Amino acid sequence: MVLNRFICGVPVFVRMQASCFLYVSEKNAIFARCVMEKFEVHILGCGSALPTTRHFPASQVLNVREKLFMIDCGEGAQLQFRKSKLKFSRLNHVFISHLHGDHCFGLFGLISTLNLLGRTAELHISSPQGLEELMGPMLDFFNKQMSYRVVFHEFGTRKPELIYKDRSLTVTTIPLCHRMPACGFLFAEKPRPNHIIREMVDFYGVPVHELNRIKNGADYRTAEGELIPNARLTRPAELPRRYAYCSDTVPLDSVVEQVRGVDLLFHEATFADEDAARARETFHTTASQAASVACRAEVKRLLIGHFSARYEDESVLLDEARSVFPSTQLARETLSFPV
Ligand SMILES: [Zn+2]
Ligand SMILES: [Zn+2]
Repeated sequence: MVLNRFICGVPVFVRMQASCFLYVSEKNAIFARCVMEKFEVHILGCGSALPTTRHFPASQVLNVREKLFMIDCGEGAQLQFRKSKLKFSRLNHVFISHLHGDHCFGLFGLISTLNLLGRTAELHISSPQGLEELMGPMLDFFNKQMSYRVVFHEFGTRKPELIYKDRSLTVTTIPLCHRMPACGFLFAEKPRPNHIIREMVDFYGVPVHELNRIKNGADYRTAEGELIPNARLTRPAELPRRYAYCSDTVPLDSVVEQVRGVDLLFHEATFADEDAARARETFHTTASQAASVACRAEVKRLLIGHFSARYEDESVLLDEARSVFPSTQLARETLSFPV
């Protein structure tokens, strides 16, 4: 109603356009929040190498607009996948950070189950060098008649590499420093074109074939020759979101630079401060060191995990991390966190 009254006469419209746009943009912002596309991480396992009854070893699933990406695949990942009510059919890509067992021993079970389920789509697994050589003979032995193909991709671990892209997402490696070649992963949404303000487009009678140009920033000239600036026809798209996963590693300045400003950083926090010497020896990070990485990188939120079996109660890790970076949460199996 308000908009209709304003647009009946040009002078009124021009005088009132600030509040008119405020009305339109508020409405659209609310609408945008409602339809914000899914980008969330499910924790399947957040323990480390030694088994405990409290945790599964490392594995996560990132849901980006209903496409599922698995990050590490520790033992039991497929059970946790089921418990989290995720759909196997939506999983096409697995990213393995390094070839320690707590990050990849779940692959055999997962691959076999997908075969039992009669999967036909390829499953792509990206990892540092060596996984295909290790798994190839075992897959040949256990799954003689695979209903689908497993495609292995290897990445280098010395410098960041773009290892996946689609229309809306890129995945880049984050080189880490561990007892063997290892990389984390940076998942970044691609910037999206502006949103059309339907009321304004209708008002100026913009033909449909002009909409793509306008979405991408073009102004519009009416049949009468009036130039309508793009800002009057569109509102900016939501900012692209980014999720970074860093496990296992010593704390690194290069990670700080690569994850600067991300919406959510998962960083391993295997040990408490009192075990800092053990963290150094085993090429791991303490909770306060993880928090320091988050703080220096000015990330929005920090999630810590890869907990050592020695801590019955991980609140000590949370307290130490929060004393450095308050926006920290503990990872926990079957929980999901929006990015
Ligand atoms: Zn590990
Ligand atoms: Zn490791």
